Amino acid sequence: MTKFVYTFGDGKAEGNASMRELLGGKGANLAEMSSIGVPVPPGFTITTEACTFYYKNNKAYSDELKQQVMEGLKGVEAVMGKKFGDPNNPLLFSVRSGARVSMPGMMDTILNLGLNDQTVEGLAKASNNPKFAYDSYRRFLQMYSDTAMGVDIHKFEAVLDRVREENGYKHDSEMTVEQLKEVIAEYKKIGIAEGKVVPQDVNEQLWGAIGAVFGSWMSERAIFYRKLNNIPADWGTAVNVQCMVFGNSGDDSATGVCFSRDAATGENYFYGEYLKNAQGEDVVAGIRTPQQISKIGNERRGLNLPCMEEEFPSVYAELDAIRHKLEGHYKDMQDMEFTVQNGKLWMLQTRNGKRTGLAALKVAVDMVREGLITKEEAVTRVEPGHLDQLLHPMFDKSAKRDVIATGLPASPGAAVGQIVFSAADAEAQSAEGKKVVLVRVETSPEDIAGMHVSQGVLTARGGMTSHAAVVARGMGIPCVSGVADLRIDYAAQTLTAGGKTLKAGDMISIDGTTGQVMAGELPLVKPEMAGDFGEFMKWVDEIRTLKVRANAETPTDAQTAKDFGAEGIGLCRTEHMFFDPSRINHMREMILAKDEAGRRNALAKLLPFQREDFVSLFKIMDGLPVTIRLLDPPLHEFLPNKKAEQEALAQQMGVTVEEIVARTASLHEANPMLGLRGCRLAVVYPEICEMQTRAIIEAALIVADQGVKAIPEIEVPLISSRKELEICKKIIDETAEAVFAEKGKKVEYTVGTMIELPRAALLAGEIAELADFFEFGTNDLTQTTLGMSRDDAGSFLPQYVTKGIYERDPFQSLDATGVGKLIAMACKDGKATNPNIYLSICGEHGGDANSIMYLNQYLNGVSCSPYRVPLARLAAAQAAVKAKKA
Ligand code: ADP
Ligand code: MG
Ligand code: MG
Repeated sequence: MTKFVYTFGDGKAEGNASMRELLGGKGANLAEMSSIGVPVPPGFTITTEACTFYYKNNKAYSDELKQQVMEGLKGVEAVMGKKFGDPNNPLLFSVRSGARVSMPGMMDTILNLGLNDQTVEGLAKASNNPKFAYDSYRRFLQMYSDTAMGVDIHKFEAVLDRVREENGYKHDSEMTVEQLKEVIAEYKKIGIAEGKVVPQDVNEQLWGAIGAVFGSWMSERAIFYRKLNNIPADWGTAVNVQCMVFGNSGDDSATGVCFSRDAATGENYFYGEYLKNAQGEDVVAGIRTPQQISKIGNERRGLNLPCMEEEFPSVYAELDAIRHKLEGHYKDMQDMEFTVQNGKLWMLQTRNGKRTGLAALKVAVDMVREGLITKEEAVTRVEPGHLDQLLHPMFDKSAKRDVIATGLPASPGAAVGQIVFSAADAEAQSAEGKKVVLVRVETSPEDIAGMHVSQGVLTARGGMTSHAAVVARGMGIPCVSGVADLRIDYAAQTLTAGGKTLKAGDMISIDGTTGQVMAGELPLVKPEMAGDFGEFMKWVDEIRTLKVRANAETPTDAQTAKDFGAEGIGLCRTEHMFFDPSRINHMREMILAKDEAGRRNALAKLLPFQREDFVSLFKIMDGLPVTIRLLDPPLHEFLPNKKAEQEALAQQMGVTVEEIVARTASLHEANPMLGLRGCRLAVVYPEICEMQTRAIIEAALIVADQGVKAIPEIEVPLISSRKELEICKKIIDETAEAVFAEKGKKVEYTVGTMIELPRAALLAGEIAELADFFEFGTNDLTQTTLGMSRDDAGSFLPQYVTKGIYERDPFQSLDATGVGKLIAMACKDGKATNPNIYLSICGEHGGDANSIMYLNQYLNGVSCSPYRVPLARLAAAQAAVKAKKA
C-alpha cells in the first residue's frame, strides 16, 4: 500500500520538515511545527505522489487515496470532537495547495469548506454568532466558485461593492446578517446563471477542492511559472486539508503575518501586521489598514495605531515565544502566518522569509554572532544577486540633508533623479539617458516597466506590503512609501511637502533605508565593503577555493577590480589599447605596410605606448598576476570604412584612396568571428607577436626596478591546434630571451592559451603539454560550438527554448547540458597531461553564479568584469560549501 496521507496536529505529526518533496513546503512545516509543540490546527497532507498518480491515471483518484482521506478526516473529527457536515455543529476545513517550492499565486486557498444551507445555521447557533457564520459561508461560496468552478471573481465582488455602496459601508465587516444572507442569495443566482452551482454535499465539496488543487498544477499560470523557474512538471503539488480556525469570529479574534526579524533591514526585532475580526488574506489585500504587531514596529515605521503587544498582551507574548522557538529550530529568519480565535493563538504557516540584500547580510552576520549558525551556513544565506543591492551607491553621510518629508523605509538604498509623475514618463526620459525618480500617489501593476527604469520610487500612500514596496524590494530599487505629508498634483505636475513645491524635472533624493525625502541632489558615494559587509566577505574568501580575477585593460578598471577584491587581471584585451587616436594611425600604417620592414617600422612606434599600458597595469596589480591576451580581432576592424575617413587616411599615409579600399577589402572577413585573427595573426605576421611580447617583458623589467613585482602571463588567442601554440610560444620565448640578453636581467613569465574553439577543447590533452594555463573564452566557445550568436538584446533564439530544443538559453549559464560539459571534459584532459596547469574561464560566465556552481570542481579560477567580482567570490564560496557537503 502506498501512503498518500500524512496527518498532523495535537502535538504529533507523521511527517517532518525534511519531507518537503513529498509533503510540499507548507505541509512539511505544518508537520514540523505540530511535532515541536507549536499550536497548529489539526489536519492532513495529501502527498505530491498522489498528484502525480492522479495525472498518470487520467485524473482519477485511487481507492487507496479515497480510503486514506476518509481516515484522515475521522482523525481530525476525533481530535476536535466535531463532525464534518454535522448540521448542528459542523467541522470546517481549509484546503490549501503546497508545492515543494513556493509558487506564488498558483492557486487560491479554499476556506470554510463544509458549509451549506444547513450547516451554516448550525454554525450560527453553535457559535452564537450568526454574523460570523454567514460571513464565512459567503466567503466559502465565493472562493469555491472562483477556485474550483472557474466563475469570474469580479461578479462576486460587484455584489459586495453594491451592498457596501447602498449602505455607505467602508468595510464588508459592517454588513448585517440580513445583508449577508442577501449577498449569499445573489451569489447562488450567479452560480445558477453560469451552470456552476456549488455542491451542498460536503464530501463532494472536499473532493472538488482536492481536484481543484491538483488541477491548478497544470494551469497556464503554473506551467508558465515552472518554465520560468526550471521546476519540473512531474514534481506535483501536495494538498493540505486542515481544520479551520476563525479570525473573523469577533473583536477578540484576528489574523496576521509576521517575520522573526525585519525583512527589509534585517534588524532583530519582531515585525508583523494583523487585522482584527478578519480572515485569510484580508491583511495583505489592503482593504483595511493593518495594525502593527509590536511597539517597536510602530516606532520603526513611525505609526501609531494600537499594536498587538498592547491590545492582546498575552497572545503577543505567546507569539513572540513561538517566534524565538521557530527561529531557533529552523536557524533562519521565519515568515509566519497566524490566526487568533477568541483569544487563542494558532499558527498556520512558517517558512524561511524572503528578504532584501541588506537584511540577508545582516541576518547572516548576526546569526553567526548569536551562535545560531556557522560561517559556512552564513555564506549560503546571501544570494549572489543580493550583492548588487549592497553595492548600490549610498548617500554621503557628511552631506547636509534638506528633508521635506518622511515616509516608510519600504526598500533600502539611495536614489537621486529628476521627478517624473508617470511610469510612461519614466520610460521615455530614461530612454533619453536621464536618471528619474518615479513619484506616484500609489503604484499598480501597469507601472512595473516604469519602476524598473527608475532610480527609485516615492509614493504618498501604501504600507510596507503595498504594491510599490513589494515590487521595489523585488527589483532591488530604493522606495519610500506612505509619505502622508506628500501632496501630488498630477495635472499641475507638482509635488508639495514640507512647505516646498517641486515640479516635474526637478531633482529629488530619497533614502529607502530611513524613509527620508530630500529636495535637490544629495551626493552619492561608492559603498564600502566595510563593517558587516567586510566581515562577511572575509568569511567568503576563507571558504572559497576558486581564484577570482577581473577582466580589465584600463587603469581605472584595474583599480576598481582590485578594490572589489580581484586577485589579479584574468583578461587584458590588448586590441582595445590600439583604438586611442594617438595610436590608431600607427596601427593602420602597420596594416597597410607593403612588407615586413614597413610593418616593423610602424610597430616600433606602437611599442612605447603598449609598454606604458603594461607598466601602469603591473603597478596597480603589484604582486598579482596579469593575463595579457595577444592581438585578437581581424585587422579590417582597425581600418576606416567611411569614405571621408578613408580619404583622410589616404592623404596622411601618402597613398591613394583606392589602395586603402583594396587593402580593406582583402582583409575583410565575411564572418569576423573566424578567419585571419587570433593566433593566426602571429603565425602570418610574427613581428606583431614580437612587439607585444617585447612591450610586456620590458614593462615587467621597468617596474621591477621600482620595486614592483610583475607577474605577466602571455595568452595566445583562438588556437585550434597544438602546432599553432608551438609556433607562438617559440616567438614569445625567443623574444623574451632577446630582451633579457639586452637588459642583462630576467623576469618570470608564463605562456598559455585561450580555448574558444571546439577543436581546441577536444585536443586539450596535447595542447596542455605546452601551456601553463588555459582560459576558456566561454562566449565564443558557446557560439562556435552551437553555430549561433546572441541577438542585440543579448539573448538567443527564444523559440529554441519554447519548442523544447534546448532546456534553457545556452548563453545564460554553463552547465552539464551544454558547453559547460565540453569545458569540464577539456579541463580533465588538460590536467591529465599537465597537472600544474591553471584552468579558468573568462567572460560573462565568469560572473554567473550558476556557471561557477557547476564548474567549481574543474577550475582553478574565474575572471569576470570588475563589478561582478564580489558576486563571483560569493558564488565560489557557496560552491565550496556545497562541494564539502557532497
Ligand atoms: P498561500 O499559498 O497564499 O500561502 P495559504 O494556504 O497559506 O495560501 O492560505 C492563505 C490564508 O488562508 C492563510 O494565510 C490564512 O490566513 C488562511 N488560512 C489557511 N488555512 C487556514 C485555516 N486552517 N484556518 C484559518 N485560516 C486559514
Ligand atoms: Mg500562506
Ligand atoms: Mg574570442
